[in-house]
Amino acid sequence: MGGMFVFWITQNRDCAMILPVRMVTAMYYGAIKKYDIADGEGVRVTLFVSGCTNRCKGCFQPQTWDFKYGMPYTEETEQELIDALRDSNISGLTLLGGEPFEPENQRVLVGLLRRVRQELPEKTVWSYTGFVYDRDLVPGGKRYCEVTDEMLSYIDVLVDGPFIEEQKDIRLIFRGSANQRVLNLKETRRTGTIVRYIE
Ligand code: SF4
Repeated sequence: MGGMFVFWITQNRDCAMILPVRMVTAMYYGAIKKYDIADGEGVRVTLFVSGCTNRCKGCFQPQTWDFKYGMPYTEETEQELIDALRDSNISGLTLLGGEPFEPENQRVLVGLLRRVRQELPEKTVWSYTGFVYDRDLVPGGKRYCEVTDEMLSYIDVLVDGPFIEEQKDIRLIFRGSANQRVLNLKETRRTGTIVRYIE
């Protein structure tokens, strides 16, 4: 994956350093959880990307709407994720946000998912999106771009739809509001009909 050098200024109590950082391209992320048991099945590595235009009322992390929230995602970040996924206790990778399916984020994440599929094919991939799969992520949809099909082809389970505060239900598994769907994306794409992973 082609990278470019930029300079990232980091500060601690005693000094400020200017470090060369290889950018994959312009994406930021807020956090990485290396042992996440809440966002998908098993113990997972979860990447919280930055940037979201959905602006759901009642969103529990509106700070992540900002595309520059957190830290720049670099080739080193990607390698850190791949290394964390190699742990035999880890079931797979989950993409969260912010919004993984903003086109600028898709263009970075597709490279990560390509590597996961090539280097760690036994791991599962889950992704969350506030967009609706069969409306927004299909040809003509508002967040469909040149890499969307490839990115979707690497994902096993897609939790889709915006968070709707009026439909919030804390008893739901892996989602916050009743309108959201936990899709078996492989079967959905194979059959051309919506197949749920969990009802
Ligand atoms: S899609 Fe997620 S991050 Fe974006 S506004 Fe809705 S709840 Fe918040």
